[in-house]
Amino acid sequence: MPCLKCGSDLPDALRFRVLEVHTLHIRDFNGERIIQALGEFKNYEICTACALKGARAFLYPSGLILRKCFAFVMLAIAGVILSLAITFGESWPELEGVFAVKALGPIAVIAGLSGVIGRAREILRTRDEVRRMSHDEALRYSAYAILLENALKKYNDNDITYIPVNKETLSMTPSQLAGKYDLLPAISLKAHELIRKEGEFDG
Ligand SMILES: [Zn+2]
Repeated sequence: MPCLKCGSDLPDALRFRVLEVHTLHIRDFNGERIIQALGEFKNYEICTACALKGARAFLYPSGLILRKCFAFVMLAIAGVILSLAITFGESWPELEGVFAVKALGPIAVIAGLSGVIGRAREILRTRDEVRRMSHDEALRYSAYAILLENALKKYNDNDITYIPVNKETLSMTPSQLAGKYDLLPAISLKAHELIRKEGEFDG
């Protein structure tokens, strides 16, 4: 089976078996509710080269931080520009007295900066987690992250998420599955049953 990311067909790829979960979000006057169903079991492979590259990106995350924080940096910069324009600009004298408009710039700066801090912290936490893993665990972790990034995320209006079939999920109770994978109670029971039936596939 070719690597899901790069398409190369190498014998030492990491193999995963996952169960699809389809979730449809419905918004009406009662608020939001979801309809959920289980899809099929799917097999995916990620080649070792892609997994290694991904693991390195987790361990040396400056590139990852730049990429994930870019939008927040732009938001903060837009906030600064807006604040300066309102403070010093001649173009909108009528806006000067309007507090809500004046507040927009600083709000954008704060939102942008806290976004950067939040994302960077999250990425550094993942780095520390990956550092503590063995070589094989780190490869597997990175390969699964690549799988989630590259596997189908939508089917019509349904969001698709995945439950891996592995030692961890095989030992989970339905309510643990529900908590970790955002499943409705009935769906978590069914998923629990199917995953057990599917048995241990990838260790
Ligand atoms: Zn690959």
